Amino acid sequence: SFMTNREHLCSNHPFVTPTMSPHTIQSIIYSSIAKMTFDGHLSFKNIEFAAKDFGNRYHYTPWAVLHPKSVSDISSIIKYIFNLGLTSELTVAARGHGHSLEGQAQAYQGVVINMESLRVPEMSFHTGKQPYVDVSAGELWINVLHESLKHGLAPKSWTDYLHLTVGGTLSNAGISGQAFRYGPQINNVYQLQVVTGRGEVAICSEEQNTDLFHAVLGGLGQFGIITQARVALEPAPKMVKWIRALYTDFSTFANDQEHLVSSTDSFDYVEGFVIVNRTGLLNNWRSSFNPKDPVQANQFTSEGKILFCLEVAKYYNPEEMDHIDQEIDTLLSELNYIQSTLFQSEVSYVDFLDRVHVSEMKLRKEGLWEVAHPWLNLLIPRSSIDEFARGVFGNIVKDTSNGPVLIYPVNKSRWKNKTSLITPEEDVFYLVAFLSSAIPSSTGKDGLEHILTQNNKILNFCGRPHLGIKQYLPHYSTQEEWKAHFGTHWKVFSGRKLTYDPLAILAPGQRIFHRQK
Ligand code: FAD
Repeated sequence: SFMTNREHLCSNHPFVTPTMSPHTIQSIIYSSIAKMTFDGHLSFKNIEFAAKDFGNRYHYTPWAVLHPKSVSDISSIIKYIFNLGLTSELTVAARGHGHSLEGQAQAYQGVVINMESLRVPEMSFHTGKQPYVDVSAGELWINVLHESLKHGLAPKSWTDYLHLTVGGTLSNAGISGQAFRYGPQINNVYQLQVVTGRGEVAICSEEQNTDLFHAVLGGLGQFGIITQARVALEPAPKMVKWIRALYTDFSTFANDQEHLVSSTDSFDYVEGFVIVNRTGLLNNWRSSFNPKDPVQANQFTSEGKILFCLEVAKYYNPEEMDHIDQEIDTLLSELNYIQSTLFQSEVSYVDFLDRVHVSEMKLRKEGLWEVAHPWLNLLIPRSSIDEFARGVFGNIVKDTSNGPVLIYPVNKSRWKNKTSLITPEEDVFYLVAFLSSAIPSSTGKDGLEHILTQNNKILNFCGRPHLGIKQYLPHYSTQEEWKAHFGTHWKVFSGRKLTYDPLAILAPGQRIFHRQK
């Protein structure tokens, strides 16, 4: 097939002759791409950043980084590479904010597209009955929030951390404490502009190019590069009552969480986390919270117990101050937390949504942000969550001082079901996120090796087929594992790959398909 492609290239390329060696042809290809003109620019220096990500464990250096200034920059480089056919092995990865965990936004010796350079279109707001904003997919969610607030609006569904790009989270799902009500972020976009793996630019939505729309949402960057998104908005509240309460019994905790996500008349945000064997716990988890009853709270002792912390929030505007406390009391009265452990805080809506950034600043100061992050994210069906909790918390996971362990249910009935996102079959399932940080060069419990061993034990436990557990932000090394991940959806997923990126040029760092050569 190399010969056929060489002939194909000869006919397209004035400098290529049929007798040239593959090596010479590759050099000609590289130099011809290097000579292409862009509205932005292609860079060969200072590109080490493109071999890094938040996970800080995989480092694949690309050949070049494209800093696009227009959609046609992206489409022309992909089209050029696509038209080279099988003669070239070049791959292309969109890089959002590079907050992947396992090299998913990297392209070894390929081209990385630095999506944050793409600043078109400027954010443009539509403030009708169904408000939305058109944004560049390289935009950070924190910027979308600040601009939307100028119009009294805000997106409906979030991630816990906002310094991520729109295209990066839409390629996964974007799940946080609002997802039980609105679905993940992929549910809350009306339209996308996409450059496919053939270099074609397409607009897609529920009405237009529907299959492409569903393919790229949760599509792990496999079918196209999202260049623009139309994000659904709602009127923004000003303030948030932020509440935490503890449980020692998992079933009671889970029942309360499920009760809260089953009702439309509930809190605006429902999450939770697990605390195993953490000393100094009370000072830690409630640091910026006030106890509802300080005397009782001081009597609560936690040492040695596994605790489950419910975290909820209610949005409000100052003029609603009178009845919001009443509403919260009613909602809390239906729950079974340990009464002395109710803690509250009042913060602005922005501070609430941007809460993880505060931790980021602290960790950066201590040099603990740019460390390895061996994270593990799981989606666990409701019917398996008790078995999972019994088998993992306190057994495989004997302390949680390496980072937060989030756990909260979502209700799939309000989620779009034709996207590429893989979730458990059941309507209610839990997101369980082990968000560990590894201390550099430690060989102890807080070191990378120990955490990875623990993750493997958890994954082995999850491998019991009857549990029906799926990875979120999935990572596998073989196609067999990917096929198992997708299950009956593999046929559609791989069929879409053939349609939109038949040479497997895009997002090689996901390691799902191999570049055709
Ligand atoms: P990148 O890491 O740059 O890219 C991710 C993948 O998407 C890569 O394969 C890349 O090639 C592809 N990609 C990037 N941009 C595009 C595009 N425009 N078009 C097509 N493909 C593209 N996730 C949640 O759901 N909920 C959370 O609460 C949450 N919290 C997080 C907190 C932190 C501190 C971190 C680091 C991550 C968190 N995540 C969360 C995970 C996060 O959503 C994903 O890692 C996401 O991919 C990061 O976005 P990014 O812009 O950095 O993407």
